[in-house]
Amino acid sequence: MGLKNSQYQEIMRSYEQKQFRSHDILTRHYKEVYAKLPEFQSLDDSIGILSVQYGKKLLNGDNNAVASLKEELAILRSSKKALLKSAGFPADYLEPVYECPDCKDTGYINGRKCHCFKKAVSRLLYSQSNLCGILSLENFDTFSSDYYSPNFIDPKSGRSARDIIEDAFLTCKDFVRTFGKEHKNLFFYGDVGVGKTFLSNCIARDLMEAGFSVLYFSAPALFNILAQHTFDKNNIDARHMYEFIYDCDLLIIDDLGTEYTNTFVSSQFFSCINERLLSRRSTVISTNLSLDSLADLYTERAFSRITSNYILLKLIGDDIRIKKKLQKKEEQQ
Ligand SMILES: [Zn+2]
Repeated sequence: MGLKNSQYQEIMRSYEQKQFRSHDILTRHYKEVYAKLPEFQSLDDSIGILSVQYGKKLLNGDNNAVASLKEELAILRSSKKALLKSAGFPADYLEPVYECPDCKDTGYINGRKCHCFKKAVSRLLYSQSNLCGILSLENFDTFSSDYYSPNFIDPKSGRSARDIIEDAFLTCKDFVRTFGKEHKNLFFYGDVGVGKTFLSNCIARDLMEAGFSVLYFSAPALFNILAQHTFDKNNIDARHMYEFIYDCDLLIIDDLGTEYTNTFVSSQFFSCINERLLSRRSTVISTNLSLDSLADLYTERAFSRITSNYILLKLIGDDIRIKKKLQKKEEQQ
């Protein structure tokens, strides 16, 4: 998953277009009002003249004049409102219409990317990967615990695969329901094919539909971006992606442990999850590793961040992917 600078520019251009569109709508509304209410236009003209005078008096420190001009302006503005209303126009008819009122369709709030910008990036990245198709197949509606045997028992907890997955399912639903209000992180671990990625996909789809920015990475791809950003400072594409890794509402790291690990990778991994914890942004991690191997592979600090700040969900079962394939075959026969 990667964002090219050209795509970044394309998103920026879409903001310009939104601003043009909003300007066009406003111009049209003004024309309409002026045509119907010529006296409205003369009120606007008077306000324009008075505002200039007001500005000059303010600069000169002429407090008396400032006060009386302010009063006059307020009267003119309320006459405008009344006039608009009497002609049957909505009260906000001459207010700018923004798709995102928070950033006024600029994509930025106080120099930081607006949530609408991050959402646009997340949608773009999902649409260019094959994940969009996967999310239409793997979501809460298509989830079934039938693949999990009630007789497959976890020797440690004594609980069945089915009980465990049903609990995990509820935890994931709850994660989505409270997202943005409560800060939670999930850590799925267990053997290949027990449904870890499936559950991450369920979460991704619902949160994207709810308007959050979600980034999905396999661990090798994530560490690749982190390395590119560190060692190639001129790589603009990597810089944009690096920002989103730290900034997105939800970061999904799939298959942790399949990347090539070294000291650099471990420290980058720690910075990433630690920074996201500090900024209260959620992360979902899945791995085939056991907790013991995780502790061996990554730093003690990273391990303790996860065990103390993530909801740990161990999934068990026969290989679900195999079961599903078998079932499909049976259906086809
Ligand atoms: Zn916005």
